[in-house]
Amino acid sequence: TQKIKIMGILLDRVDYDRALQKIERFLETGGPGVIVTPNAEIIMAARKNEKLKEAVNGADLCFPDGIGVVLAARIIGKSLYGRTAGFDLMTQMLDMAARRNLSVFLLGGKPGVAEEAAGSIKVKFPGIKIAGTHHGYFDENGEGQIIDMINKSGAHILLVAMGAPKQEIFMIKNRNKLHCSIAMGVGGSLDVLAG
Ligand code: UDP
Repeated sequence: TQKIKIMGILLDRVDYDRALQKIERFLETGGPGVIVTPNAEIIMAARKNEKLKEAVNGADLCFPDGIGVVLAARIIGKSLYGRTAGFDLMTQMLDMAARRNLSVFLLGGKPGVAEEAAGSIKVKFPGIKIAGTHHGYFDENGEGQIIDMINKSGAHILLVAMGAPKQEIFMIKNRNKLHCSIAMGVGGSLDVLAG
């Protein structure tokens, strides 16, 4: 698809349906397809953080989260279709996972949050398989063990909820080691689901 550049960040110009179609394609091609949904704050942060910028621009799909990004695009004469909120995209992905019998691994949040989020996901999306959960507070030495755990779980979809820039850098750095088809950064979404 067409990508447009806003303050150095490449964004996919799609609506929700196209976004989901593109995400689903990684299930056929294998992956992992890395998906990020930066908001205006993260795009600003990327100007000062080269690692974050590289990670965001290294993602396979990058959707604008928040009307701020859409308005910024309009001001510089480029148009995005609209916001594709990360939380809504994640919700649609969970719905798809339940329909297609795919399993999901939840990584991130404080200890206990991913487990609570898993409970609420199972209620909201009957039939969904939660492959595993892990909190998001580990250092680089612990990364290998976490990757092993995710791979052994057989998860098709990995949701990484460690906030920016940690989640974006984690996904890009480890994309060649991950066996899942889709890895998506979802920020504080597990906190929201955990309630
Ligand atoms: N988090 C984490 N590991 C870290 C730092 C943060 O798992 O080392 C989690 C934190 O518990 C929260 C989420 O990442 O659940 C970040 O939420 P925030 O609202 O800051 O992210 P945003 O949605 O703004 O990117």
